[in-house]
Amino acid sequence: MRTISLLGSTGSIGRQSLDVIAACGASVAAITANSSVELLEQQARQFHPKLVVCYDPAAASDIRTRLADTDIRVASGMEGLIEAATIPEADTVITAVVGNVGLRPTLAAIKAKKRIALANKETLVCAGELVMRTAKEYGAEIIPVDSEHSALFQCIQGSADHGEIKKLILTCSGGPFFGKTRDELKNYTRADALKHPTWKMGAKITIDCATLMNKGLEFIEAMRLYQVTPDQVDIAIHRQSIVHSLVEFRDNAILAQLGVPDMRLPIQYALTYPKRLPSVVEPLDLFSCPPLSFQRPDTETFQCLKLALDCARKPGVACAVLNGANEAAVGLFLKDQIRFLEIGELVAKALEVVPDGPADTLEQILDADRAAREAVYAAR
Ligand code: MG
Repeated sequence: MRTISLLGSTGSIGRQSLDVIAACGASVAAITANSSVELLEQQARQFHPKLVVCYDPAAASDIRTRLADTDIRVASGMEGLIEAATIPEADTVITAVVGNVGLRPTLAAIKAKKRIALANKETLVCAGELVMRTAKEYGAEIIPVDSEHSALFQCIQGSADHGEIKKLILTCSGGPFFGKTRDELKNYTRADALKHPTWKMGAKITIDCATLMNKGLEFIEAMRLYQVTPDQVDIAIHRQSIVHSLVEFRDNAILAQLGVPDMRLPIQYALTYPKRLPSVVEPLDLFSCPPLSFQRPDTETFQCLKLALDCARKPGVACAVLNGANEAAVGLFLKDQIRFLEIGELVAKALEVVPDGPADTLEQILDADRAAREAVYAAR
């Protein structure tokens, strides 16, 4: 069984990862969080990692005091995250942090040749080419945890090479505002946007699901992971969230992965691949399923999706700008400082004003990210 370093242990994916780890008997070498010390302490006492990291320095000193009676080491900041990502005891790193803070630790883990169970899509969106190139160079495995990308990964098992893939079809629940017009969306608040119809998730991704930016980010994530062109990725609105994604092969066979919407399945598969183990996830009862439907997304109403699909076709830092601007805008929306439709408007503004440039190095990517956030704060 694997030994895990879990980056982002107190978030939604982090907590579900610990459920899976406990159920399948894996051990934990390190856990990290931003500042949720109470839960982090509880997790540390239950899973006995060697290292606990709080990104926030004040929270780190709090957790140090709380864990003073144990022999668990405590670290903080980006340095701490990188230490957790490269800790020698772990063979697998689950990257469940939210946002581009995951970028440096993920690269460090790749260079330490860990298996990456990738739950931090922002990393592949803003630095996809760099990350995939580095993974190839160091021979590190990247196994997606995102439910759609895990579905794609499961569907391509047994196909000889990526040349056999004709199309990746990402399914999308449509979010809480499916079928609405732009006019109706004007008055929607944070509370409305936080009500997702089928999945229970963290706040940032739930907002991204409401704007459909999440599907745009996943479109780019799929292109990077499977090294396909934008024309080879499609999005199908599938309100039931039962088909988690599909792959069409060059002989026109389509394979799909189905299941109840529960992240613990893709998390477990990323840890046990190429094996499958019994799971805590409920089985899908085909005979009580609602009818399955598929339809095209509305990119006119959902501006964020349109912006992401445009960026997916651009070389350079466009995707990093998209991601950075979106993180900043969603942050403002979650603090009730902007209205729902302004998320897309601010991202569009950032894409207009931040100059394009190459995305060959981490510095170029982080600079573009910073410029995008500044553009959002300046434009509001
Ligand atoms: Mg997803």
